[in-house]
Amino acid sequence: MCGLSVIPRPGTPVRFNHLPLGFLSLVILLDSKAQQTELEWISYPPNGWEEISGLDENYTPIRTYQVCQVMEPNQNNWLRTNWIEKGDAQRIFVELKFTLRDCNSLPGVVGTCKETFNLYYQETDSEVGRSLRENQYVKIDTIAADESFTQGDLGERKMKLNTEVRIIGPLSRRGFYLAFQDVGACIALVSVKVYYKKCWSIIENLATFPDTVTGSEFSSLVEVEGTCVSDAEEEADNSPKMHCSAEGEWLVPIGKCICKAGFHQKGDACEPCGRGFYKSSSQDLQCSRCPAHSFNDREGSWRCDCEDGYYRALSDPASVACTRPPSAPQNLVYNINQTTVSLEWSPPADTGGRNDVTYRVICRRCSWEPEECVPCGPNVGYSPAQSGLVDTYVTIMDLLAHANYTFEVEAVNGVSDLSRTQRLFAAVSIATGQAAPSQVSEVIKEKVQQRSIQLSWQEPQQPNGVITEYEIKYYEKVSLWYMSKSTSATVNNLKPNTAYIFQIRAFTEAGYGTYGPRLEITTKEEATGSIYCCQNPVIIIAVVAVAGTIILVFMVFGFIIGRRYALAVKFPGTKTYIDPETYEDPNRAVHQFAKELDASCIKIERVIGAGEFGEVCSGRLKLPGKRDVSVAIKTLKVGYTEKQRRDFLCEASIMGQFDHPNVVHLEGVVTRGKPVMIVIEYMENGSLDGFLRKHDGQFTVIQLVGMLRGIAAGMRYLSDMGYVHRDLAARNILVNSNLVCKVSDFGLSRVIDDDPEAVYTTTGGKIPVRWTAPEAIQYRKFTSASDVWSYGIVMWEVMSYGERPYWDMSNQDVIKAIEEGYRLPAPMDCPPGLHQLMLDCWQKDRAERPKFDQIVGILDKMIRNPNTLKTPVGTCTRPISPLLDQSTPDFTAFRSVGEWLEAIKMERYRDNFTAAGYSSLESVARMSIEESRLYLKQVYIREKTLFQHCFTAILFI
Ligand code: AMP
Repeated sequence: MCGLSVIPRPGTPVRFNHLPLGFLSLVILLDSKAQQTELEWISYPPNGWEEISGLDENYTPIRTYQVCQVMEPNQNNWLRTNWIEKGDAQRIFVELKFTLRDCNSLPGVVGTCKETFNLYYQETDSEVGRSLRENQYVKIDTIAADESFTQGDLGERKMKLNTEVRIIGPLSRRGFYLAFQDVGACIALVSVKVYYKKCWSIIENLATFPDTVTGSEFSSLVEVEGTCVSDAEEEADNSPKMHCSAEGEWLVPIGKCICKAGFHQKGDACEPCGRGFYKSSSQDLQCSRCPAHSFNDREGSWRCDCEDGYYRALSDPASVACTRPPSAPQNLVYNINQTTVSLEWSPPADTGGRNDVTYRVICRRCSWEPEECVPCGPNVGYSPAQSGLVDTYVTIMDLLAHANYTFEVEAVNGVSDLSRTQRLFAAVSIATGQAAPSQVSEVIKEKVQQRSIQLSWQEPQQPNGVITEYEIKYYEKVSLWYMSKSTSATVNNLKPNTAYIFQIRAFTEAGYGTYGPRLEITTKEEATGSIYCCQNPVIIIAVVAVAGTIILVFMVFGFIIGRRYALAVKFPGTKTYIDPETYEDPNRAVHQFAKELDASCIKIERVIGAGEFGEVCSGRLKLPGKRDVSVAIKTLKVGYTEKQRRDFLCEASIMGQFDHPNVVHLEGVVTRGKPVMIVIEYMENGSLDGFLRKHDGQFTVIQLVGMLRGIAAGMRYLSDMGYVHRDLAARNILVNSNLVCKVSDFGLSRVIDDDPEAVYTTTGGKIPVRWTAPEAIQYRKFTSASDVWSYGIVMWEVMSYGERPYWDMSNQDVIKAIEEGYRLPAPMDCPPGLHQLMLDCWQKDRAERPKFDQIVGILDKMIRNPNTLKTPVGTCTRPISPLLDQSTPDFTAFRSVGEWLEAIKMERYRDNFTAAGYSSLESVARMSIEESRLYLKQVYIREKTLFQHCFTAILFI
């Protein structure tokens, strides 16, 4: 019969999870077709609407209501449904399926037959009984058939099923009735279906949205807040929302939920991360495997725990590996400069897996014995800082002088403070050197007289040693100095009524501190009539001169300050040499002046010589952060005695105090390992004497003078420091690849033990006679002036390309000849000015000898004026030397020239003498020394032996 669609049973909404958006969902409140039993609606009057059973197109029994009072006028037949509870609904849909007969198809009904009916409703909160009052109903619409009939194939008219839907609402009561008013039509109400629309519960973006009834208006959207599924949370500022449309569709999703830390999304739910996995934040999508050195054995973890000994810094994200503190820094080395210590190290072998390694330094000052250490305190300065060091070096300043310190350098990283394991650090113990005292900060004017001013002051805050005196500088126009041993002084011999400026500085063995502030004091006015000796300017000068002499004497002879302190020869402003012998503990001297090197920084390459204490090798030194350099390494042979070790290292203690381009430079020592080593800058050309012999005649005079100038400059520096070398000789000068000559060989015992040239003299000492000044030979008067004598010999050695001074004369003969006034003649091709300088150096009276400062000046002048270095032909030597002024030799012991030449082992030159016309002893005797030398020079230009024998002969004949 009728084609009807199947719709869910009334009142039984079906829950659909995961309904796609746009799914239409209806809640059926009434479906007449679904009811098999009688509907039992109210029909009034009783002869109007009639309930009739029928079959649908599937032959399923259905209940219908029909009315057809078309013949009678004024029909008013009502049919009312049972009470329909509306539930949540606000808008109700009423779907009517009906057939309506065409009045034209009914004969005899003109005027009474209708083709419409009316639909009403009445809202109530409950059932109102079975009475029906028309005026309580609200009309919904007049319903007409779209088509009353259709035309059949054979021309017969067929009834057509009409469907009409009407909407009512918004409804406010709990329920309602529907009513159908027939006014004289022929109707079959085949089905009445009442429903409303709803958005069904749904999970979208991990949020649950509940069943939601559509809004009351056709156009309204109902906004619905979602609730996060378990183990999910709302995304920040983005809470989940959806909109339920009037058609029951979910529209416009906004915001979302995300799985909490430790959970990840699987479908529409959040599941815990498995063991060994974690999810640290709801923002992460996936669970991740535990990073290195961490683990977990629970599900749903937001992080993994660190393995034993590994840590995570507070700032470390859960995703990074657990880490540990770094190992200790490596290769810690230090450098001391007075009271400043520089430390350098290499990064630790193990950074603990982090890249935030910094360093901190812990400074402790230790007593010598027993070794007890206390923190250094706030007075010590660190540059760039004490902790948080990014670079691998630090300088520690303002340490106390002559104190023992321990420095620990620790590498730290972000987890060091979390670790309870033992601290790992590199440490060094260092004894500081000496430092000049700090300023005399305040000077008090005690008493001011006409010619004297009495001052007093406080000892400097940091004496850094024993203050041996104070220097008071005062000046009117030119500075004057006054020395005081105590912290007060009366400066006399001043001018009356004159303003003087005073400044004071303290002196220790380390030198002078800086001057304190200026203090201006005016002496009192002169009392008229009184006469003071010092008014006379001559007397003033005399007084100042006497004072100056006293100061000078004081400065030159130095002073001895206790057993621990050195004999110091001091000059204001100049560093003074300290004799390591004056140290109670020689090891302290070594470490005060020489840097302790790590043996691993030294690579020995080959043996280049033999020293007194062991082999001398060449090699390379690579200090951290510096370029590697060539070095000579002096080693101490195994099986040494304590004295040998001390003597060996003594050279380093001395050399370490020097810093001059013409004094061989000490790189450092290795005393904490074996072999004990002294590491010196490498001098490629070795000793000067051997070098010159190897390159005989190959240099220009300027080059030779340049070498001499270098040696003199090195000696000037040493003598200014108060150091007396005692063994200055070409063999003790080293030459580098640039022909720079440097003074070397500093050892206290070297003259005695080391130098093969040294011989015992009658004064008891062992002395290199040919190089030594007569006063040093005779009564051991070694001074810078005796070094100047030796320097003259070195000049001779240089100009004669390594000739042995006095050739093969015996030491005794040399002593005798010198005593008698003989001096070495000028070497071949030697400019006269140079020989003159040699002779000046060999003045018997040491006060007459030039100072090294003057020698440097003379040589500089020569180098600037090369003309002065020209050797006039035939005037190589001048008869100024007493040696050359000797009278004609006595040949009475010989009968012929041949016999004489034989006696002096020169017989092989007999023919030369004869050829030159010197056939008789008389003619030889008549030959001037000048001529004989010139002659020999011309004939045997490179034969120095002859010259030497000739010289010997001349000397002793
Ligand atoms: P010494 O013990 O100082 O007399 O040294 C022995 C030898 O080693 C010297 O004669 C030089 O040939 C050589 N020598 C010493 N020091 C150095 C150096 N710094 N550079 C090159 N050779 C050196």
